[in-house]
Amino acid sequence: MKKPCAAFDVRLAEMRTIAIKTSVTWFLWVNMMFSSFILGRNYFSASQSEVLFHHPAALLETMMVIDLTLSAAVLFIMRMAPLQNAQWLGGLAKWTVIGLSLCWAGCFFVLIVSNDVRIIFPSAALLLFTALISLYFDPKVLLSFILPIWLTILITSLFYRDGLTVMNGLQWIFLAGLIESGRRILNRWFMLALRREQENADLIQQLGLLANHDPLTGIANRRAFEAQMDQAILRHQQDGNSFGLIMLDVDHFKLYNDYYGHQKGDLCLTAIARALESAALTSSGIVGRFGGEEFVVLLPDADANALETAAQNIAAILQAQNIPHAASLVSDRVTVSQGLALWQPGVTARELIAGADKALYQAKQEGRNRYK
Ligand code: GH3
Ligand code: MG
Ligand code: MG
Repeated sequence: MKKPCAAFDVRLAEMRTIAIKTSVTWFLWVNMMFSSFILGRNYFSASQSEVLFHHPAALLETMMVIDLTLSAAVLFIMRMAPLQNAQWLGGLAKWTVIGLSLCWAGCFFVLIVSNDVRIIFPSAALLLFTALISLYFDPKVLLSFILPIWLTILITSLFYRDGLTVMNGLQWIFLAGLIESGRRILNRWFMLALRREQENADLIQQLGLLANHDPLTGIANRRAFEAQMDQAILRHQQDGNSFGLIMLDVDHFKLYNDYYGHQKGDLCLTAIARALESAALTSSGIVGRFGGEEFVVLLPDADANALETAAQNIAAILQAQNIPHAASLVSDRVTVSQGLALWQPGVTARELIAGADKALYQAKQEGRNRYK
C-alpha cells in the first residue's frame, strides 16, 4: 500500500469531520425513530423487573428519553449552526455518538435484566448496522458507539440472562464479524475516493504550474505574464496610476549558443531570469519569459523615472553577474537590450507590448546593451 503523506493525513481527518457532520444527521434521525419505538411500546411490567433491578423500566424510559432528546437537540444545533463551525460540530457529533451509545447500552441492559430478550438481537443488530453505515469511515467513532452496546449485551447476558446457549453467544460474535468486515469494505471505498481526490488535486496543481510557468527558468511564461498584465491594467484603471513594462532581449544570443553550446545557453537564460527576479524584487515587479531569449518585467505603480531606474538596475545586476560571452559583438559579457513602455489609462495590453517592442528594436538598432 502507498505510504500516506502528511497532507493526505490532514485531508483524511478533515474529510472524516465533514463526513461525520453529514451522516450523523441521518444517524440521529434513526436514533430518534428507534427510541420513540422503544418508548412507545408498553412491554414491561414493573413488578417483573423489580426482581432484578430497582425500577428498571423507569431506567429504560429515562435512557430512551435522553437518547431522543439528545438526538433532537443535536439535530437542531446541526441545522442552525453556521457551516464554518464544522470543526466543533464534528467534535459535538463524536461526543453525541458516545452519549447515544451509553443510552442504548442502558436500554439493552434493562431489556436483558427484565429477561425480555426477543427484541434485543434484531433491534441491536439493526442499530449497529445503521451505525456502520453512518460511521464506517471513522473506526474510532464507530467503535465508540458499537463497543459499549456490544459489551453491555454480552456481559449482562452472561450474568442475568436465563437459558443462555452457546448459539446466543455465537450470534453476537458473528454480528461483530459482519460489522467489522462490512466496515473494512466500506472504508476501502472511502479511502480510495479520498486518494483519487488527492491525486486529482495534485494533478491540477501540477497542470497549473505547467500551464503558467516556463519549465527552463521557472518564471512566469507568456500566457501567465499576459494574464498578470491584464490584471494590472484593470487594477491601475481603477487607481489611475501608471505602470511600466520592460521587454528585454539577450544580445547576440545565437552567437552565444554557437560558441558555448545549447546547454550552456540554457544555463545562461536561467541566470538572466534570476538576475531579473532580483532586480524586480525591490519594485515588486513580475518577471516573465516572453519566448526564446526574450524576457519581460512588469513594474506596478511605476512612473517614467522608476521604469528607467529599474532598467539601469537590471543592467547593473547583469553586469555584476559577469557571464562571459566571448562571441558577442558588443561586449565580452552577456548583455541585454531593453525596450521600456509606460502604461497610462486608455492604453491596451497589445498597445503596451507593441510600444515596448518598438523601443527594444530601437535599442538594438542603436547598438544593443542599452535601454530605450
Ligand atoms: P540579437 O542581438 O539581434 O538579439 O541577436 P540574437 O542572436 O540574440 O537573436 P536571434 O533571434 O537571431 O537568435 C535568438 C537565439 O536564441 C536563437 C535560439 O537558438 C536561441 N534560443 C531561443 N530559445 C532558447 C533556449 O531555450 N535555449 C537556448 N539555449 N537557446 C535559445
Ligand atoms: Mg530575440
Ligand atoms: Mg537576442
